[in-house]
Formats: sequence, C-alpha cells, structure tokens
Amino acid sequence: MSLKYPLPRGTRDILPEEMPFWHHVEDTARSIFSAYNYQEIRTPIFELTELFERGIGDGTDIVEKEMYTFTDKGERRLTLRPEGTAPIARAYLQNGLGKKEPQSKLYYCGPMFRYERPQAGRYRQFYQIGVENIGNEHPFADAELISMGVHLFDEMGISGLSVTLNSVGCLVCRPVIEERLKQFLGSNLKHMCDDCNRRFSVNPLRILDCKNATCKTYRTAIPDIQESLCHGCSDHFSSVVEYIEALGIPFQINPQLVRGLDYYTRTAFEIVSDQLGAQNALCGGGRYDGLIQHLGGPATPAVGFAFGVDRAVMILKELSDILKQKNKLIYVAPIGASQQPRCFYLVDTLRRAGFKVEIDYSKDDIKYQLKQANKLGATRCIIYGDREFESDTVIIKNMVTTEQTTIPFDNVISFLSTHADTLPHTS
Ligand code: ATP
Ligand code: MG
Repeated sequence: MSLKYPLPRGTRDILPEEMPFWHHVEDTARSIFSAYNYQEIRTPIFELTELFERGIGDGTDIVEKEMYTFTDKGERRLTLRPEGTAPIARAYLQNGLGKKEPQSKLYYCGPMFRYERPQAGRYRQFYQIGVENIGNEHPFADAELISMGVHLFDEMGISGLSVTLNSVGCLVCRPVIEERLKQFLGSNLKHMCDDCNRRFSVNPLRILDCKNATCKTYRTAIPDIQESLCHGCSDHFSSVVEYIEALGIPFQINPQLVRGLDYYTRTAFEIVSDQLGAQNALCGGGRYDGLIQHLGGPATPAVGFAFGVDRAVMILKELSDILKQKNKLIYVAPIGASQQPRCFYLVDTLRRAGFKVEIDYSKDDIKYQLKQANKLGATRCIIYGDREFESDTVIIKNMVTTEQTTIPFDNVISFLSTHADTLPHTS
C-alpha cells in the first residue's frame, strides 16, 4: 500500500512485538548503572546549534554533514541533538553540578538525530544510552567505565564482543601526533578522498577514521600514535591498560582508533560486535578532558561512553531465547458466560499480585479459549467453568507440557508463585 503520509526517511516505528528487547536493554542498563552509582539525567531533545558546533567540533562528520538544524519562530538556531555528551556538559555547567559534588556520574537514555544515509543499523532517529563520569581524571575511572560497558553487555546476554583501545593524546602532544601524521600522509594525499584532503589541514587525526577503502590503503604503515604521546598521556594510558588487564577484560590496542568527536583526549575505545555486519560499532567512548573548559567552564576532566540501543536490539533479536523466559503470560479462560464475573475478579487479583494476565470475554467455549491461550504464547491457562465453580477449584493447564492440575480457587496465587514458569513478572 502506498501511504499518503509515510514515515520520514531514516525513521521507523518500533512496534510492540519488538518492545521486550528494548525494555530488556533499558532495564539491564539501569540496573548496572545503579550498581556503579550512576544517576539518570534528562536534557532537552534540542539545544542551541552552537553548543554542538563548539562541543563536537568543526571537522567532524556530525557537524559538517549530519545535524538537523532549524530556525524557530524566535529566529534561534536550534539543532536536534545528535549525541548526548555536549548537552550533558552544558547541563553540568548550567546547574553548577561541579560545585555540588566532586564527581558527577550521570547516565542518559533517549533519541538522537543524525542526517546519515539510512541502512541496516543506521537511522536518522536512533537511540543511545550513555554515561558520563565528570570530575575524575584518574585512569581507574577510564578502566571502570570500560569494565562497566563490558559488564553491561554480558548482563544483557550479548556475546562475541571485542574491546579496542587507543590514546589520542592531549593538547600538549596532539600537535606532535598530527605533525607526524601529516608528514607521513603528505605525498599520498592527492590519491585520497575529498574529506581526507579537507581534514588534512582542519583536523588531521580524523583522517584515521575515514572508511574509504582507497584511503585505508595509504594508512597501513602509519606511525604509531603511542610513540608520540607525552609522558603524562603515556603513563595514563599504561595505567588504563594495566587496570583492565587486572580485571581480566580481553582487549586489543588499535593505534588507528580515533573517535568521531573533536573533544576526545587520551583514552578512546570502542566495543564492536561480530554480529552487526558493516555497522559493527556497538559502543564508543573515551576521555574528553578539554570539553567543559572549551564550553566556558573550569578545566574539568571527564570520561564517558554511548551505545546504540537499536544495534543492541538487532543483536538480541538473533538470540531471542533470552527473552522467551521473560514473557510469562497467564491466560484465564472462563467457560460459560456465567463464570465470567468470577474470572474478571480473579484476573484483577492476579494482576495486583504482579502477574501478567490476559482474558478474553468474546467467546466462552473451551476450544476457543485454549486456542487463544496458545496464540498468545501463555505459559499457563487457568480454566474455570461450572464444575470448578461447584467445587470452588480451578484447573491450571501447563501450556508447554499440557499437564493439568486441579487446585482450590484460593490457592491460585500460592501455586503460581511456586512455579518458576509463572513467577510474577516483577520478580
Ligand atoms: P559509526 O561509526 O557507526 O557511525 P559513530 O562513531 O558515529 O558510529 P558514536 O557517535 O560514537 O558513533 O555513537 C555511539 C553508538 O551509537 C555507535 O557505536 C552506534 O551503536 C550508535 N549509532 C551511531 N550512529 C547511529 C545511527 N545513525 N543509527 C543507529 N545507531 C547509531
Ligand atoms: Mg557516525
């Protein structure tokens, strides 16, 4: 059917059938963040365009090509947020969080907007969950953050991930790194793409992030960033490596890893999945010690990461066993119209006790009711007809094994509470 008003390109509806995966990701993230004592922050969906121009950086894909920018009726230049870190840095300054506590550990969750070419795992409205630890420059903070990322995906049930790590230096050694890079690339620049040519003078480190196959070939023997790091950055990086090794987290150092944003300093890391195809980056993060000062605040170290919820869900859908056990639906089947009121009451009692329950009043014959229970994937069906009314009992049918048990009406909750396949959804 060709719709008169279809979705804008690069956006999509997330339908109820996919929602258990989203909730699984969001709930797991919230519980892990809480274990590491992070607190949620929510910022507006749009901000002043300048915040992103300054906070993300001129030479980046986001600022150059990907922002949804508009002018409102008051002639303000506004942009739908393409990422979460700059807004959080702004909120940190605006609300004086640095004065309230020495370290702010914040997490966020919500839609981001980037004008990109839509494809599998790449949308124009997508969702990120991210964390920012502001005020802590110690390499323990970087290592803890990487470890929290790995812990998070383990807990979600996503395997086959690998962590890559690099240091991109600081204001002191960045010019040295860039100069070496320029010397190395200089003679080949004419064979490389327009973006690389432009970035050569604006922001040469970004050349390392170019995905163009030809450009990649000219980078194979590139000088190792590690060799140009200043002592401070080199020591910091060695400690991060030492601490994550101590936790037994497998990782690789990729000397060409840089992040897409200008404000990153020192640690840069990525968590990629072998199950995502071309868009294999699940999570990206690193340190951004210069950002808060750059936005007009005091010098404040910070480290954070963000992961793509859409991509996490894509992986989880392939491993959907994880979620099957979460959907423990109980179906109540009134047999005969006169039994419907008592079932109406039973359903209410069960829902208040935390069970997930469905009932259908449209037909009251057993055949239809069992068919519905099956169709909805219920784990148990509670059958209640005239005979059960007479004896004040119910029949509980296990929809997987088809085994039926008759128990007293008043024992329904205690019966369901002691069977693993029917425990309340809140447990
Ligand atoms: P990529 O290299 O895939 O463009 P990125 O470096 O632009 O990623 P970040 O800005 O670090 O990504 O965002 C963190 C995560 O957000 C990514 O690892 C990815 O999972 C997700 N993400 C980024 N852009 C999109 C998008 N357009 N659609 C869906 N998810 C995205
Ligand atoms: Mg991108």
